[in-house]
Amino acid sequence: MTPQQQERYSRQILLKDIGDAGQEKLLAARVLVIGMGGLGSPVASYLAAAGIGQLVLSDFDVVDLSNLQRQVIHTMADIGKFKVESAADTIAALNPDVSVTALPLALEGEQLCEEVAKADVVVDCSDNFSTRFELNRICVASRTPLVSGGVIQFEGQVSVFDSRDEASPCYQCLYKPVAEGEGETCSRIGVLAPAPGIIGSIQAVEVLKLLLELPTLTGKLLLMDAKSMEWRVIGLPKDPNCPVCSGSQPA
Ligand SMILES: [Zn+2]
Repeated sequence: MTPQQQERYSRQILLKDIGDAGQEKLLAARVLVIGMGGLGSPVASYLAAAGIGQLVLSDFDVVDLSNLQRQVIHTMADIGKFKVESAADTIAALNPDVSVTALPLALEGEQLCEEVAKADVVVDCSDNFSTRFELNRICVASRTPLVSGGVIQFEGQVSVFDSRDEASPCYQCLYKPVAEGEGETCSRIGVLAPAPGIIGSIQAVEVLKLLLELPTLTGKLLLMDAKSMEWRVIGLPKDPNCPVCSGSQPA
């Protein structure tokens, strides 16, 4: 690390679970973030601030005025720009140590497989079920840990699916595929501005802990109800009949 990096990351290097060696791991890491909206904004901002060396950001959408209520990585000046380009500009201004690859497209199929395989951790900040299920299948197949988050109205949830661990459930152990268009979305029923900020920040924490080999939410689901401000952690068992992750298990 350069003297400037030592200073930039000094408060984090002070943590006994991190130190110089941990910070070097973060600087050497590559993280793929799918979606640069309400969750992707805090995820990418905190991972960049924390010194993740390579961030790959994917989102096909452009910034719209109605995004700014919660997608805090973008500003008025970014309206009409690709979200990944707006996010890359914000990150460049925050921390030039971070190399950002901005992919202004719906990452899927072969290209998604390649990006997942190159990543140390994948973060699901998407807003639709087809992406969530496809991303989960690819992460299980390539044994890449996946940090999943979701928000709606006053509620949110986070989990880690770490398929390097034989006992870990996957996203599909928790949810069964639904027809596209089903399910509630923020654009239909709304979301409180800081809710994705809270959940995305927790996703960023889980990414850092995966890279630092600290205990994570693997096998657990964290649930937030911001209206009552009640939080719960429930155990998330692996589904022995899961078509995605059970096949790799010995009978
Ligand atoms: Zn599964």
